Amino acid sequence: MKRAVWEGVVLVSESGQPVDIAIIGGGINGVGVARDAVGRGWTVYLCDKGDLGGATSSASTKLVHGGLRYLEYYEFRLVREALAEREVLWSVAPHIVWPLRFVLPHQRGLRPAWLLRLGLFIYDHLGGRRRLPPTSVLQLRDNPLGAPLQRRFRRGFEYSDCWVDDARLVVLTARDAAARGAVIAPRTRCLAAVREQGLWRLTLRDEVSGVQHDIRARTLVNAAGPWVAQVIGDVLGQPEPARVRLVQGSHIVVPRLYEHDRCYLFQGADGRIFFAIPYETDFTLIGTTDLDFTGDLDQIGISAGEIDYLCRGVSAYFATPVTPAQVVWSYSGVRPLYGEHGSRAQDATRDYVLKLDAPSDDIGTLAPAVLHIYGGKITTHRRLAEAVLAQLAPHLSRSFGNPAGWTAKRPLPGGDFPVDGFDALRNNVARRFPFLPAATVRRLVRAYGTRANVLLEGVRGADDMGRDFGAGLSERELHYLVRYEFARTAEDVLWRRSKLGLRLTAEQAEAVAAAMAALV
Ligand SMILES: Cc1cc2nc3c(=O)[nH]c(=O)nc-3n(C[C@H](O)[C@H](O)[C@H](O)COP(=O)(O)OP(=O)(O)OC[C@H]3O[C@@H](n4cnc5c(N)ncnc54)[C@H](O)[C@@H]3O)c2cc1C
Repeated sequence: MKRAVWEGVVLVSESGQPVDIAIIGGGINGVGVARDAVGRGWTVYLCDKGDLGGATSSASTKLVHGGLRYLEYYEFRLVREALAEREVLWSVAPHIVWPLRFVLPHQRGLRPAWLLRLGLFIYDHLGGRRRLPPTSVLQLRDNPLGAPLQRRFRRGFEYSDCWVDDARLVVLTARDAAARGAVIAPRTRCLAAVREQGLWRLTLRDEVSGVQHDIRARTLVNAAGPWVAQVIGDVLGQPEPARVRLVQGSHIVVPRLYEHDRCYLFQGADGRIFFAIPYETDFTLIGTTDLDFTGDLDQIGISAGEIDYLCRGVSAYFATPVTPAQVVWSYSGVRPLYGEHGSRAQDATRDYVLKLDAPSDDIGTLAPAVLHIYGGKITTHRRLAEAVLAQLAPHLSRSFGNPAGWTAKRPLPGGDFPVDGFDALRNNVARRFPFLPAATVRRLVRAYGTRANVLLEGVRGADDMGRDFGAGLSERELHYLVRYEFARTAEDVLWRRSKLGLRLTAEQAEAVAAAMAALV
């Protein structure tokens, strides 16, 4: 396949050679498959109709977690795999993944203490924990961690999981795939995919220019997340055997509710659980809901009922109630879960399911394969990619790249520093660029890791950063995001590559939009 790369924009030749793997969908699952596949030596093309990570993969609770709750559903395979991934993802991306401690207050009348203890014991021992600290028991009344809670909570547990900047994980994974030779095409919709002369022919439309072109591929991956069934029906023109269940989950963000750095896991009276998590230094993130979704996937939004549900849920635990008037931002996503309607949304499996379709004709010749991905978690995307490639490999020629499992060892862009090396890296950047405010240095190192050095290359004074749009967002950073991280709009910058949208005024955001339009 011929291609030209200019400032991060990839142009694909229509007449080029077929790629080994074409991927529809640039959420975490699509980019995870793209990165693994190109590193293994196959040629890869990936398209997304919008921004990378623009759908479910930037709307998660942002936990790299085993999923304590899934133990109740005996999902031991999923929990074991997910628990082990915590330390793997932390080690390959220590700038955007880090450990968190969760406080779980014991609530009389709900799950009994012995059950919580048992669950946490299994959680501690199932997934090969090495660096993360184990569970401990808390007496909440004489502990600062109990201070924000109502006095009736006496006892609780504290356990470990990890945090991830989900939207940045997607972009960095895509960036790495592109650096290894994958063609990554955001804002490119796959209109049709048909089997033709032993290959897939994909018809693609650039959503900015409206220009259409075709590419050919040996195999196809449907990583369209909540659109998985729509792709089968509308893009592939096949009957939808899919049993996809769409479940909406929403989050609210409020000004910081407490001072310490722990998260809370609360049990709702309806048996559901929800989280209150320190967020972007000055805020608290609260989520999530679980509601069957039937509307338009391009128009997802939180309802007043969900806001009320979340506020009431956490107010049953915090000493000071949380009200809808405190909400400064909210977001919603739709989980594409595998399973039938009928049972409760929260009971549908969170495990991923892969369906390979490669029918053979009368003389046994296999048609080009397509693999549909249902469900999955941010946490397990790397293992999902390995499982996808294990199923596709027999349909491809032998590859001569890295061995299977390589993504567990190679850092994502900017993640080439030790898991306990963040402070050293931040101090180093602060020393070399003393004119940058401490909060900006911290944010840049958190977002870009060692690549903060690339962003700041040649900077000798504040003027070299260019215009300051507010909250430390500089013209130089916009250039970097356009050049290296596929950003094209203010929304890409303010709500996905960063969360500076929480801090900028409407006027400042408009200035960013104008600057981005001029840049791209
Ligand atoms: C509320 C909520 C909370 C969650 N919390 C967590 C958590 O804390 N931890 C965790 O590990 N997981 C969590 N998850 C699960 C996780 O977010 C999802 O499993 C994951 O993001 C799904 O990724 P995906 O790539 O399959 O889908 P998506 O991210 O939705 O990507 C699919 C992409 O396909 C594109 N697409 C669709 N049709 C086309 C087409 N025709 N042409 C081109 N592109 C197309 C879309 O634009 C989209 O970007 C949560 C999910 C939700 C909803």
